[in-house]
Amino acid sequence: MEVAAAKPQSAVMSRRTFWLFLTMLPAFAYAADLPTITVHLYDLAGAPNGILDQAIDTTNHLYAGTGVELKWDRQTASIAKPGEGNSFRPSATPSEVSVRLLPKELSDGLVRSGSAKLGFVYPSVDNGYRYLATVLYDRVGRAARELYDIPLPQLLGYIMAHEVGHLLLGPNAHARGTLMACPWDTDEFRFVKRDQLRFNQKQTAQLRSQASARIEAATSRLKAEAARPIPPGN
Ligand SMILES: [Zn+2]
Repeated sequence: MEVAAAKPQSAVMSRRTFWLFLTMLPAFAYAADLPTITVHLYDLAGAPNGILDQAIDTTNHLYAGTGVELKWDRQTASIAKPGEGNSFRPSATPSEVSVRLLPKELSDGLVRSGSAKLGFVYPSVDNGYRYLATVLYDRVGRAARELYDIPLPQLLGYIMAHEVGHLLLGPNAHARGTLMACPWDTDEFRFVKRDQLRFNQKQTAQLRSQASARIEAATSRLKAEAARPIPPGN
C-alpha cells in the first residue's frame, strides 16, 4: 500500500469519490460458521498494546462486512534491530497468515527513502498461498499524524486490512475507490478518516471463496497428516 502525493484537502469531489459512494457496502451479518483465517501478529516495532488492540478492532470491523472472520494470535516478539534477523514461523496451514509490524530501522533498509510505501506482501508462498504481510509501522504513524490527521490505530487497522486482503486476493487486487485502492490519495484518506472505505462486492465474494478454499486445503492437509502411517520406533 502506498500513499499518493498529497492534493489540497479542498479538492472538489471527483467522479471516483462519487463511485466510492456507490460501491460502499453496508456491513451485514452472517450466520455462524464463517470461514475463519488465523492471523499471527508479530509486533517487531514495539507498538503500544492499546494501539494494537484498537487497530485489530478496526481490521475486524472492516472484515465484518465480508463474511470472513479473522482470529488474531498475538505472538511474543521483541523489537527488531537491523542485522539481528527476526524469526517468525511460516504458517502451519493455509488457513493461517502472518502480519509483522516493522520499526523504522528495518523499514529504512527495506524500502528506498522517499518511497510512500506503508506495507507490502511477500511473494513467498506455501502451495500457492501467500502467508506473510509486512506493515511499516513508523511510516503508518507518520502518515496518520502528518498527512491526514487520522488516529494511528485507525489507519493501522486499515493498512492491516489492506495487506491481509492481498494475502487472500493476491498481489493484483488493487481497485480504485475501495479498501484495495493503491495508492491511497486524498479521497481514500478522507474516507478512512470517516471510516467509510470498504471492500466492494466483488472483493467480498473473492475473500469468502479464498478463505473457504484455504480452510478446505488446511483440513485436507491435516487429514492427510493424520492418515500417514507412524514410522516404527527405534
Ligand atoms: Zn496494495
